[in-house]
Amino acid sequence: MSDLGPGVTFRFTDRSGGRSKPPYQSMNLGQGVGDDLADVTANRDRLAVSCGLGAGIAWMNQVHGTTVRYADASWPETEPEPCDAVFTDVPWLGLGVLVADCVPVLLADAEAGLAGAAHAGREGMTAGVVPALIDAMTAAGASAGRMQVVIGPAICGPCYEVPETMQASVSAAVPQASCRTRAGTAGLDIAAGVRAQLTAVGVGSVRSDGRCTSESPELYSYRRDGTTGRFAGLVWLTR
Ligand SMILES: [Zn+2]
Repeated sequence: MSDLGPGVTFRFTDRSGGRSKPPYQSMNLGQGVGDDLADVTANRDRLAVSCGLGAGIAWMNQVHGTTVRYADASWPETEPEPCDAVFTDVPWLGLGVLVADCVPVLLADAEAGLAGAAHAGREGMTAGVVPALIDAMTAAGASAGRMQVVIGPAICGPCYEVPETMQASVSAAVPQASCRTRAGTAGLDIAAGVRAQLTAVGVGSVRSDGRCTSESPELYSYRRDGTTGRFAGLVWLTR
């Protein structure tokens, strides 16, 4: 675990420590991927307990969009409306983003007492889910210049081959996401696109986990494995 300023903690999970069976072994946190829901629920409970999240975890119903929602303390008990970004001011309420190649983005303005999480895949990054989250948090009292951000593990550009036409449509919106793959073909570096968007809105501090999901056997990767689980980025306020 690590922090995003005083009173803000984050972590990224991996495949270890859960009870899901192959091909989801073992700490799958994603519903809707074919895993036994009782196992997913047990894994989610185990994670909340291990992080001391007495207020539970606000998991999103992710749809590759740009909708941002505010999470209050009732979120874990309700069926969440679709969204791909969430923020809160509730202490010990985890904000969870589920990924297996998409970019998990966790951020906070510790001084304002606000934390946020975004699911930025190809579609969400291109459509601007991260700037949308920063807009919403700014409206709630945060400042981009004070924010600390961590970009989590995601598939890297050299591993992420896409059709030329797809690369062109993404780079028309976010040119920094365009790259070549290891094979020399058209690629996308979604994390680089997120980083460019953060810089453009004046975010002060951005760091990266740096791991590539496809190249890291301890992480889930949809590109590598097809049917597989989801790991999580998790951020929460401790005061
Ligand atoms: Zn890679």
